[in-house]
Amino acid sequence: MKNVYRGSCMCQAVQFEFTGAPRFVADCVCESCRRAHGASAVCWVGVKASQFQVISGEESIRWYQSSDASERGFCQQCGTRFLFRSSKWPGEVHMALSCISSPHDLKSGGVAFKQEFPAWTALSMEEKPR
Ligand SMILES: [Zn+2]
Ligand SMILES: [Zn+2]
Repeated sequence: MKNVYRGSCMCQAVQFEFTGAPRFVADCVCESCRRAHGASAVCWVGVKASQFQVISGEESIRWYQSSDASERGFCQQCGTRFLFRSSKWPGEVHMALSCISSPHDLKSGGVAFKQEFPAWTALSMEEKPR
């Protein structure tokens, strides 16, 4: 029996899920993620595209081309950003962990793009015991 993880945007118009184990879970502090989400960090869950599916609300998803390689998906009704895909990670879909319904057993494995860590946050780059 494979694990199934479900998620949604803030208004619930878009419902999605993925099955099985993610390829990675990581907190990204890159400038693009922070600006796109208006946040200090964005925790991403990366899966193969074949593990991911939109259950409902596909028509509410809009994609913003945030760089030559990458697109960021959001709900046109509530503005929640929760998807990422990029030719840098071909065949993968990345989801914002904050939009996956709790409880779940997913946990960040570390911080990505540490070189762009903002000087002003109280968050820490130190690895926590798991
Ligand atoms: Zn929404
Ligand atoms: Zn990022």
